[in-house]
Amino acid sequence: MKADIGIIGGSGLYKFFDKGKWVNIKTKYGKPSDQIFLFEYLGKKIAFLPRHGRKHNLPPHKINYQANIDVFKQLGVKLIISPAAVGSLQTNIKRGDFVFCNDFIDRTKKRKDTFFNGPKTVHISSTDCYCDQLRKIGKKVCEKNKIKVHDKGIVVVIEGPRFSSKAESKWFTKSGWHIINMTQYPENVLAREAEICYLNISLVTDYDVGVQGIKPVSLEEVIKVFGKNIENVKKVIIDIIKEIPKDYSCNKCHNALKGAIIS
Ligand SMILES: [Zn+2]
Repeated sequence: MKADIGIIGGSGLYKFFDKGKWVNIKTKYGKPSDQIFLFEYLGKKIAFLPRHGRKHNLPPHKINYQANIDVFKQLGVKLIISPAAVGSLQTNIKRGDFVFCNDFIDRTKKRKDTFFNGPKTVHISSTDCYCDQLRKIGKKVCEKNKIKVHDKGIVVVIEGPRFSSKAESKWFTKSGWHIINMTQYPENVLAREAEICYLNISLVTDYDVGVQGIKPVSLEEVIKVFGKNIENVKKVIIDIIKEIPKDYSCNKCHNALKGAIIS
């Protein structure tokens, strides 16, 4: 089994295309979130994995991020497209906007966030774990579809499953960070360690509790905004796939381990 492109479906995105097959893939890191859906589109082989499972039975802190990324590594994918619902930390980033993250702040606590636990010692650079090349394609596609897009953004990743306290959220906003989420880390750095290009598509569903003058998040609101915009997310993913050349390569991401291995 081989695939060119990987998609990790976030909340509300549990299925992609009807024609294809669900397959089991084993990993040495344990079970991935679900079976993998393999299908073909425009002659490209695509592997889809619902991040929380098809029944949304895995909360963010229970997802086996190592196994999920390892599945894509085994399939030989060159790039991963990873949509996610996020909260906004700044008033200029509005509900329904798309953000392509280019940096992150890790506030998670108990996640397995590396493939390298010795004896091989690896210190990966996490300065570029979001692929610049793919962010450019994403921006172009959003503009074509008339979707309000921010082609840069710093995401704060919290452990969850609780939302932020008011003080925490105010601190994040004051620090100038842009959006908040519970699943971006360690998915992003594990993809980097696996030398796979990684693109996050963040869909803003609400404002976080510390954003001044704006009503705090309710789960009902999140689901409503997400539902309204899910078709846009699918359209953007499909158009990105169309833009990916068959002989896709990325010098930066595909050689991420060069110079990072000590022994
Ligand atoms: Zn890349």
